[in-house]
Amino acid sequence: MAYSYEAPVSQSLFDRASVVTPGGVNSPVRAFRAVGGTPRFMVSGAGPYLTDADGREYVDLVCSWGPMILGHSHPEVIAAVQEAVSRGTSFGTPGEGEVTLAEEIVARIEPVEQVRLVSSGTEATMSAIRLARGFTGRAKVVKFAGCYHGHVDALLAAAGSGVATFGLPDTPGVTGATAGDTVVLPYNDLDAVRAAFAAHPGEIACVITEASPGNMGVVPPADGFNAGLKELCAANGALYISDEVMTGFRTSKAGWYGVDGVRPDLMTFGKVMGGGFPAAAFGGRGDVMAHLAPAGPVYQAGTLSGNPIATAAGLAQLRLLDDAAYAKIDAVSAELRSLVGEALTKEGVAHTVSAASNMFSVFFTDRPVRDYEDAKKQDVFRFTAFFHSMLEQGVYLPPSAFESWFVSTAHDERAVERIAAALPAAARAASEATA
Ligand code: PLP
Repeated sequence: MAYSYEAPVSQSLFDRASVVTPGGVNSPVRAFRAVGGTPRFMVSGAGPYLTDADGREYVDLVCSWGPMILGHSHPEVIAAVQEAVSRGTSFGTPGEGEVTLAEEIVARIEPVEQVRLVSSGTEATMSAIRLARGFTGRAKVVKFAGCYHGHVDALLAAAGSGVATFGLPDTPGVTGATAGDTVVLPYNDLDAVRAAFAAHPGEIACVITEASPGNMGVVPPADGFNAGLKELCAANGALYISDEVMTGFRTSKAGWYGVDGVRPDLMTFGKVMGGGFPAAAFGGRGDVMAHLAPAGPVYQAGTLSGNPIATAAGLAQLRLLDDAAYAKIDAVSAELRSLVGEALTKEGVAHTVSAASNMFSVFFTDRPVRDYEDAKKQDVFRFTAFFHSMLEQGVYLPPSAFESWFVSTAHDERAVERIAAALPAAARAASEATA
């Protein structure tokens, strides 16, 4: 596919990057491989806008993949960072900021009695699983196809659907032995979970699920699915781990727990709680968390865990996220969903706008999407055309049909108008696209 617009400075930066970094990026999705074209190298962000190295401005619907829920360069977050940085950047000792951030998390999310801070969502899920295994003395982990929990070896097994399929490694470098303790099941299928517990009595340490998945596009849990998981875990002596790295502090003040009220044994967080810095966490039941070193025997540590700059940014951001902020994000999300739906309908493009609270994405199919297999059946080539038309018109969407779109409190009327103005041509491009 040829693109009618160019990004010469981004292209030359990408060329340089490709010499010194595999694929030219530090996280694969940034390379635009799913959609083609030149990845945009961004130089600054303000409110709902990003500016690239060629000086072009975009309305940002990625928001750094979730963290920038107040928009870019929010003055109060920046001020908190500046104040913190003026006192030093890392001490390798305990500090008050990490206590205050932990208190804020515990206060917001009732099932979290204790929390441990880490630096990435990957570290949070990896540690939560180690803790679940240490606590239960069991080896196996159940995960769902299409749910992403970071690049933890044991969780990079999404292959195979059907009941109680043993995970096959998704990537070279993950051994069969590692993935062999992972049971991958189709999402939204409680019968498959029941069958897995029956097939492996006394062996399953935990079931980990995205609280409401956003990594196969947005596919919310069916009514009763999370509650059913919790029940099956409790009945079989396994822990229920809700991965709220994406949904946490985004889908409500208490994340997805605030939406469905199903009480996990352990939870993981990241993205929003770091305010754009590397901060993440896992937490939950006090009796389980008590098994973590140095209180208990399960080892876990981090040189930069609870970093003072990251905790200051996260705390400043969380404190600004009151009911009014969530009402605003929900309203912008609803408005955009209906604008996108109208534009695609007008051009006769088969689509489903799928939402979970204020997270949403568009599947280019009109068949229901309940799991990863359904999600993969969409017309991805239509998304590609839609994406590039939006990009050309100054709207930055996630460069993949299998990602959530994110909005922020900074997405004001002007930003929404710019998106609305771009939609008719993008919908037309999607309708005219060929496989
Ligand atoms: N869990 C979920 C649900 C995620 O969406 C992600 C990242 O997108 C992760 C875990 C991993 O987080 P990180 O990229 O910070 O390692």
